[in-house]
Amino acid sequence: NKALADVLHQLGIKELNPSYSTGLVWGGQEGRTVKKIRSPADGNFISSVNMATADDYEQVVKAAQEAFKVWRKVPSPKRGEIVRQIGQKLREHKEALGKLVSYEMGKILQEGLGEVQEMIDICDFAVGLSRQLHGYTMHSERPQHRMYEQYHPLGIVGVISAFNFPVAVWSWNAMLATVCGDVVIWKPSEKTPLTAIACQHIIREVLVKNELPEGIFNLIIGDAEIGSLMSHDNRVPLVSATGSTTMGKKVGEAVGARLGKSLLELGGNNAIVITENADLEMAIRAVVFGAVGTCGQRCTSTRRLIVHENVYDKVKERLVKIYPNLPIGHPLSNTTLVGPLIDKDAVEAFQQALAQVQQEGGTLLTGGEVLNGDSYQTGTYVTPAIVEAENHFATVQKETFAPILYLIKYSGDIENAIELQNGVRQGLSSAIFSSSLLETEAFLSHWGSDCGIANVNVGTSGAEIGGAFGGEKDTGGGRESGSDAWRVYMRRQTNTINYSRELPLAQGIKFDI
Ligand code: NAD
Repeated sequence: NKALADVLHQLGIKELNPSYSTGLVWGGQEGRTVKKIRSPADGNFISSVNMATADDYEQVVKAAQEAFKVWRKVPSPKRGEIVRQIGQKLREHKEALGKLVSYEMGKILQEGLGEVQEMIDICDFAVGLSRQLHGYTMHSERPQHRMYEQYHPLGIVGVISAFNFPVAVWSWNAMLATVCGDVVIWKPSEKTPLTAIACQHIIREVLVKNELPEGIFNLIIGDAEIGSLMSHDNRVPLVSATGSTTMGKKVGEAVGARLGKSLLELGGNNAIVITENADLEMAIRAVVFGAVGTCGQRCTSTRRLIVHENVYDKVKERLVKIYPNLPIGHPLSNTTLVGPLIDKDAVEAFQQALAQVQQEGGTLLTGGEVLNGDSYQTGTYVTPAIVEAENHFATVQKETFAPILYLIKYSGDIENAIELQNGVRQGLSSAIFSSSLLETEAFLSHWGSDCGIANVNVGTSGAEIGGAFGGEKDTGGGRESGSDAWRVYMRRQTNTINYSRELPLAQGIKFDI
């Protein structure tokens, strides 16, 4: 495991077990449940982490509450300066951190590096934002009165993240929240805690150097129970949760019951529509990247391909030719395009979905095998599958977090394709490939795609941080990252100021005493 040792050395991490006494990482003390982390790439043991208890959680909340008292008083552009320094550190460690993401989660190195680049990009975005947290001013109906609105920090923002983007999604939340003056408690996926610990090390250096409390960024290593404590906790005004719809419903209910705020980023069932006016070669490239990239484990992975009957056979033929030649292997190898699934449970879900869809009448065109042999000993490598199916099949309606692409035929005009695209419970990402303005504008219109993301001649996955990211319906409705997503991390206040010696009431009400 020399490669990993090198990575950790570059990150300045001597020991991955978080049992050091920075007060930042909890769950490190003796006597806790120990979880062993193995790489899905080769099954090698990387490190063990101690899972946090409810008492640990209490300590983290207290540390965060204390830090908030200091942090909220730091002017926003100065908070931006701290985030700028974090971005700089991430640049220095990009290679090492990208490798660790890749090795712990199983995505290929290019995608691991891309994930770290997203963290750097959001830091840059947040630095600029730190001077732009502005509200409106309004004209008052009362003489010599002034009205305006301002945004104040909320307090503690709880971030629950999923395994498939072990660090990027946290950074989207954390960097925005911190320039907004909030403090963050991060509960990463219990499947990928190590990259989280590495990030915490990097941030800690910046905080210590700037003589700031370490409780501004907190990390708690735990499972659903810790996430649940956070969701029920009145001291956490906002919980941002990324993961499955099942998890999001539980978090949403718990936070809603106490009238807290939640930002939910949940599952997708994303489709690409290929019309008869599409540039097919361009479309195919987008489909393959969208469907097999990260081994089908992106929330924006392409799961359904809705193709016009006039080009259907051509598209099918091309895809069935490409799929068997996809280089599947160790994610750190330069030639690999498809890495492993995260664990054997994911492999089982993949196989079950394929069996079920065939029972429903689907036809498996290619892939669907679990690989074995020397390079695939972990049992986590599969061959990406293509299935001819119909949109209403129960299997097609749900998100299976694995590389299965459902090929669906449509006939007639674009409205039929839009109906199929919208005919699922999820509403995250969607795309159309067409050079007809009539078709693409229809897809983007108010009767077009019902997703939070709708693209033209761009696939469903691979969003830029500048746009607001999120989706509708079972995807949860939250928006994070770019545009004005920052507003959710702040509380809004309307202020009316009277600079006269009278006290006129609004709406001309007379109330003489
Ligand atoms: P998951 O739902 O199993 O777990 C996600 C996180 O939620 C983990 O940290 C887990 O510990 C926590 N959790 C689970 N149950 C909880 C509960 N009852 N209360 C509080 N926390 C709880 O998801 P996963 O397998 O890690 O990730 C895959 C899923 O995430 C897919 O559905 C994918 O589409 C989704 N995802 C969505 C987005 C998005 O932005 N929309 C991004 C990435 C992943």
